[in-house]
Amino acid sequence: MIVVMNMRRTEAQRDAILLRLQAIGLRGQEIEGVARTVIAVLGNVYPELRDELSTMKGVDEVLRISKPYKLASREVHQDDTIVTLPYGVNVGGKRPVMIAGPCAIETEEQLWAAAKGVRDGGAHILRGGAFKPRSSPYSFQGLGVPGLKMLRNAGDRLGMPVITELLSVRDVDVVAQYADVLQIGARNTQNFVLLEEAAKTGKPIMLKRAIAGTIEEWLLAAEYILNAGNSQVFLCERGIRTFETATRNTLDLNAIALVKRLSHLPVVCDPSHGTGKWYLVRPLCMASLAVGADGLMVEVHPSPDHALSDGAQSLTPGNFASLMHEASMLATAVGRPFAPVPPPVAQPVA
Ligand code: PEP
Ligand code: MN
Repeated sequence: MIVVMNMRRTEAQRDAILLRLQAIGLRGQEIEGVARTVIAVLGNVYPELRDELSTMKGVDEVLRISKPYKLASREVHQDDTIVTLPYGVNVGGKRPVMIAGPCAIETEEQLWAAAKGVRDGGAHILRGGAFKPRSSPYSFQGLGVPGLKMLRNAGDRLGMPVITELLSVRDVDVVAQYADVLQIGARNTQNFVLLEEAAKTGKPIMLKRAIAGTIEEWLLAAEYILNAGNSQVFLCERGIRTFETATRNTLDLNAIALVKRLSHLPVVCDPSHGTGKWYLVRPLCMASLAVGADGLMVEVHPSPDHALSDGAQSLTPGNFASLMHEASMLATAVGRPFAPVPPPVAQPVA
């Protein structure tokens, strides 16, 4: 942290700052310029110090020089994190992955048709919502625990790890019991108590970006999970709210490229929620891979016209297969071919 003193600062004001820093166990290193003095603050700086020093007499501004997140930062941890999942699937590293499945689990038949479709198309991880964060309380809220059981069963039959949203602290244990990855949705990115409780399960966590969250807020949210002792975290860009209403959200491709530089955590992209339109999912999947995404997450429904949630952005299994074909060519062209899909493991139907 750097304290920039104003031109008319007095020696007493400068001394007051040096003394205050000393009192809290930090050291101030004075750098005398031609017109101004700056003080470099050395030691274990905490975020609130910036506000405190800014209000002291003779101070013009206080500048941060290191990132407020530590564990999530590449400054602290240079190598890419790899999140390891059952069935030999990894998120992060050289090869991108595809996460696909319905927005919401509706029935056994619907889930199975979607799951089989995405598995046949080449997806690595099966998604499906059992606890749904709907804007209206009158919309379908998800099947809850019966939905989790269906998802687990479909994943095991097809040999795929499963991801599902954890909506509330209330459901931590039961969701952790059935899921391989806990999804923290955009409405909960800054629900810090939920992040800590999710982290404590030790399960891998996919953290979505908040609806109007900055990149720094997103990485600080990841910091909560890492700081709670869980290093198996990956991020998901899903579009942010902007002035634009032509698409559901504005997919922030800048964020993918930038976060890959700022952080060692894998970043996947969800063009389904990022655009809200099924016909924009394919081009934005291609763009996301081109800017360095470690994977994609897309919604697939056997009959999008009849979906109980997010039908307008859902692909049919047929469209998903074509997407995988084209996306695989693009991924190969940018030197990061998709990870191979492990062979299905025979499991009892139960
Ligand atoms: C979802 O993935 O189904 C979902 C609700 O996403 P988001 O949290 O990004 O809105
Ligand atoms: Mn959805």
